[in-house]
Amino acid sequence: MARIVRITYSCKACGKVIAVNPWQSIGNPLRSCPSCGAPAIYSWFKEWEFFSSSERSEAYMNASAIPLLVGLIVGIGMTWAELPYALPAAAVTAIIGLAIGFGRLRAQIAESNQRLANPTYRQQLRQANQDVVAPPELNMFVLVCVFGLAVVAACLWMLIVVADLSEGLWIIMQLGVFVGGAILLWGLIALVPACLAERSIIRPILVLALIAGIAGFFWSRYRERGDALSGEELLALLDKQENSSEVNAAIERLGKRKGGAGIGGEWPQHNLRFGLDQGVVTSVRFGNTAQSPYAGTLPYGLRNFDDPPKVREKLGSPRRGSDRSTQGTFDIWQYPERGVNVIFSGGRLFAVEVVAPSRVMPPPPSADAVWNLPGRDAQHADFVALRKNVADQTLREHKFDQGKTQRWGDTIEVRFDKSDKISEVHLFERYLGDLPGGITFESNREAVRKKLGSPSPAKEFTDEFPEKGLLIRYTSKDSVYTVTVSAKK
Ligand SMILES: [Zn+2]
Repeated sequence: MARIVRITYSCKACGKVIAVNPWQSIGNPLRSCPSCGAPAIYSWFKEWEFFSSSERSEAYMNASAIPLLVGLIVGIGMTWAELPYALPAAAVTAIIGLAIGFGRLRAQIAESNQRLANPTYRQQLRQANQDVVAPPELNMFVLVCVFGLAVVAACLWMLIVVADLSEGLWIIMQLGVFVGGAILLWGLIALVPACLAERSIIRPILVLALIAGIAGFFWSRYRERGDALSGEELLALLDKQENSSEVNAAIERLGKRKGGAGIGGEWPQHNLRFGLDQGVVTSVRFGNTAQSPYAGTLPYGLRNFDDPPKVREKLGSPRRGSDRSTQGTFDIWQYPERGVNVIFSGGRLFAVEVVAPSRVMPPPPSADAVWNLPGRDAQHADFVALRKNVADQTLREHKFDQGKTQRWGDTIEVRFDKSDKISEVHLFERYLGDLPGGITFESNREAVRKKLGSPSPAKEFTDEFPEKGLLIRYTSKDSVYTVTVSAKK
């Protein structure tokens, strides 16, 4: 780091400049002038024994600066997803770098102590007044300021720009802002007497202006991010017109938006997104798919990082979903009648999706109603109820000689015969209603046979129960994959 004050050292005999802004180093200060050869004291060289404690810490800080700097530069360009791989690499780099830096310092200290073991040399130093402890240097405190600022900046960068943090890292980064801020303040306070001692004010002011500029940049980023509104405040926007005063007031408060216009954009700093349909707010999603939680408070008393038992306590049993998330997989608990989806990853809640009351799905028809659909037409009340239950999904229709099929996403597919009567209903894993015969998608082959009796025929991945009008397909893991309902024989 450059010195704040320009200091030149000249030969007392010939007047030639020996050094400009030299670094404080470990070494023998009793040397000679390179021009005239007269004995000269290189006062920036000092034996380790006479280093003050702050000079010693500066020497250690300098020895460790390069690996830390390398780590910082690497860290700035890194995405959050790369962190698990980069951290061990950074740790190894730091250990090697520190070993090299401290190894060199130790060798210099050993040489210094060896020189001082000579009593004549020690006597010469005393005569040259070289064992006086120097006043604190400006360098040290500027270093402290920059270090404190770097800690604050890195933590704020993680909190504001990266934002995808786990609960533990949120706390660590917030702590980092306080600790870094305290170090910065300590450095700034210590700078004042050091500046007075070196009788310079312009360069410290420039450094302070630079620090203030960087702090100002982060402060403006912080201001831009806006407020993370509470869950209840955001739910109040559902079913409102996108240009209504309530929605505009919320947009104002939420701060800077990325992509999209009005409320159709995304607020990555809060991990917040809205759904829009024909100018009406239809859904709000707290948290995002990159497994980062919403920055504000969630609705229904839910909290980020809740585990499945806690969510069950607050919302009850989901209509669909399981505790599989506890094994580290992605899982969605659906409460269709409430219009709520809770999304877990690694057994922890990180996103909640709430649908506008006008878009909440009606309860699906009963298992028996679905079982009796074959032979009925598209106008039958039970089929209308089934269709409403998948109204949020796109309909794909295929016509062919013997009739047609209608399919809604990966939820249901219905086959009609030539006279437009239902001949088959396929229920896929994403279907939220009860299945005929008391089976569930979590059932295995054995459990299905216990409920439905012996199949005829049974194939590798299918069991057929013609007298019940059911055909069950299994996954390779032996759980129910699809259920096909047709006329009973
Ligand atoms: Zn000279």
